Amino acid sequence: MRPEIERLAPYVGGESLDAFSARTGIPVERLIKLNSNENPYGPSPRVQAALGDYARYHRYPDPTSPALRAALAAYTGAPAETIFLSNGSNELIQLLWRVFLGPGESVALCPPTFTLYTTVTALCAGEVVEVPRAADGGVDAQAVRAALRPQTRVIMLCSPNNPTGEWMPLEIVEDLLDTGRLIVVDEAYIEFAGLHKSAARLVAEHNNLAVLRTFSKWAGLAGLRLGYGILPQWIIAHLRKVQPPFEVNAAAHIAALESLADLEHLQQNIKLLVAERERLYQLLSALPFLSVRPSETNFLLATLTDARIQARDLRATLEAAGILVRFYNLPGLERSCRISVGTPSHTDALLGALATLQPARV
Ligand code: PMP
Repeated sequence: MRPEIERLAPYVGGESLDAFSARTGIPVERLIKLNSNENPYGPSPRVQAALGDYARYHRYPDPTSPALRAALAAYTGAPAETIFLSNGSNELIQLLWRVFLGPGESVALCPPTFTLYTTVTALCAGEVVEVPRAADGGVDAQAVRAALRPQTRVIMLCSPNNPTGEWMPLEIVEDLLDTGRLIVVDEAYIEFAGLHKSAARLVAEHNNLAVLRTFSKWAGLAGLRLGYGILPQWIIAHLRKVQPPFEVNAAAHIAALESLADLEHLQQNIKLLVAERERLYQLLSALPFLSVRPSETNFLLATLTDARIQARDLRATLEAAGILVRFYNLPGLERSCRISVGTPSHTDALLGALATLQPARV
């Protein structure tokens, strides 16, 4: 087998409800899932109805997806020819790497960020060049430029960033576009920052920019797997060659079209989540043992600041309460957890559980 696969550490996502329930014995109905940045309000009600009505599941989907790309053109403002669909944005990351990254070539990224970029780089026998962030936690364009090597093919930027939550000003993207490397901006959470903050409009003026999006978060379709990219057409021509046929299934097509036809409803849910994010931020910030980073996403990164409380205490307390959040085994994040924004009652349950973790009682 290929040695790079043998060495590869598997990507570890948030634990599923069923797995957590089996491990802890708490029934699924009593769990609060705040570990994968899913949308607690679910999809548009139109999605469920349309999926039930569809009569052609026995046919392959149309791989050229004209109706969905046209609807996405209206949603994004980008021409339909510059839109490429994928089986979740995860798949598009893999496809881009397969087009651009050969063995021994590298991807520059700014940790902490989405760890899948590193996994996929290893899959391609590539290397990651880690560039430290600026003191304020933002991407340091000058440091990225300085870290580039001749074999660096891709600069990966996640904005707003998972797991730190901050949006990256577009001047940084513009600055780095001048390096001539492929610049990938992962905007999985952009709807929670505001679409006006997207880098998508820069794609028309640059032949080395790819903007990645997903329906998993804002549209509540994580289980149906639909991502897309806004990219120059010359890159799309090559992505088509490396994508297996029919990766975007019929249900995902239907769900996305119905979502885009029900934007008002989904935007209302985004508003609820943004308001709840701010409430959760205030409540967590008021706890004496946590520091919380401001966020433009649907999650918050919280870090234990009281040396008397260990991450394992926090983990045990939340687990006992049936609350799933995301912990990390990454440098600098050992005392942090990422908490997805849920409904107001999820926030209340979380705060109730955290109240039992006062240092005096530890
Ligand atoms: N990018 C980022 C930054 C993410 O956090 C996620 C989901 N965890 C993804 C991409 C993948 O999303 P999906 O494959 O569901 O579209």
